[in-house]
Amino acid sequence: MVAKIIDGHAVARQVREECRAQVQALATRGVVPGLAVIMVGDNAASKVYVANKTKACAEVGLKSTVYSFDAETPGSVVEAEILRLNADPTVHGILVQLPLPAHFDARRVLGAISSDKDVDGFHLYNVGALVQGETVFPPCTPYGVQKMLEHEGIPVEGQNVVVVGASNIVGKPMALMLMQKDATVCICHAKTRDLAQFTILADILVVAAGRPNLIVPQMVRTGAVVIDVGINRLPDGRLVGDVDFEGVRQKASYITPVPGGVGPMTVTMLVYNTVQAAQRHSPL
Ligand code: NAD
Repeated sequence: MVAKIIDGHAVARQVREECRAQVQALATRGVVPGLAVIMVGDNAASKVYVANKTKACAEVGLKSTVYSFDAETPGSVVEAEILRLNADPTVHGILVQLPLPAHFDARRVLGAISSDKDVDGFHLYNVGALVQGETVFPPCTPYGVQKMLEHEGIPVEGQNVVVVGASNIVGKPMALMLMQKDATVCICHAKTRDLAQFTILADILVVAAGRPNLIVPQMVRTGAVVIDVGINRLPDGRLVGDVDFEGVRQKASYITPVPGGVGPMTVTMLVYNTVQAAQRHSPL
């Protein structure tokens, strides 16, 4: 068996088309979805991520504004800016680009964002809502994975899902979202003993550990769906995921590449969440 490669760019294009149509409908009511991005410090990777986000917004017709602060800025100043943006009716989504400099209390800063504008879905209110299955803003990366599965018509109900990685931004919300869709979910992490004995049971294997080549063919069931969230830069400059792509694609039924898999979906779901927020703020 050779896996079908899920083209993240193609799925992302389709979701962005949907968003564009919604943006046009909002424009007839004089509403332009607005995203505020808070960036603190000079992290090179963060700058690239923020540039990608603002570009994606512009392509779909959203207005995005970046608020940049020096790394030495007191947390209270950033929080005050967030409170101002919370009250600004032209801003429908607010995100704080992580990581914040070490002296920041990230939970406190994220907690300042109105739960109605929390398009990254990291506010405790939205995390709690996700646990209860009532989430308003599903976190963008796992939401992107869910959209990819839907797009390919891959059923989730009753499937064995194994999520490798238990972070707050990917692994945990991913597991909750698929459990909500009636999958049987197992979460593995760095302390899991004998990872392979879990991964081999997976009908759908989602890997988000940040470890190149963590998943090799003998750990994957024949016909499994393999979603590689990992992004790793090798010493030779190549970008790879967590899965031995060439080996595992000989065994899986579907597989996502890196780059060009989950990555394009993450930024697209941010746009999607912002458009949904604008629609909720501006009912017909
Ligand atoms: P993280 O470091 O916060 O969490 C990693 C998780 O993987 C932890 O739960 C850890 O216990 C687990 N882990 C580490 N080594 C392991 C091992 N050997 N076996 C099993 N579990 C192990 O990372 P994160 O923010 O969740 O990101 C994970 C990966 O996904 C990274 O490569 C990151 O760059 C990538 N990522 C990609 C996107 C995207 O859009 N494609 C978005 C977010 C993160």
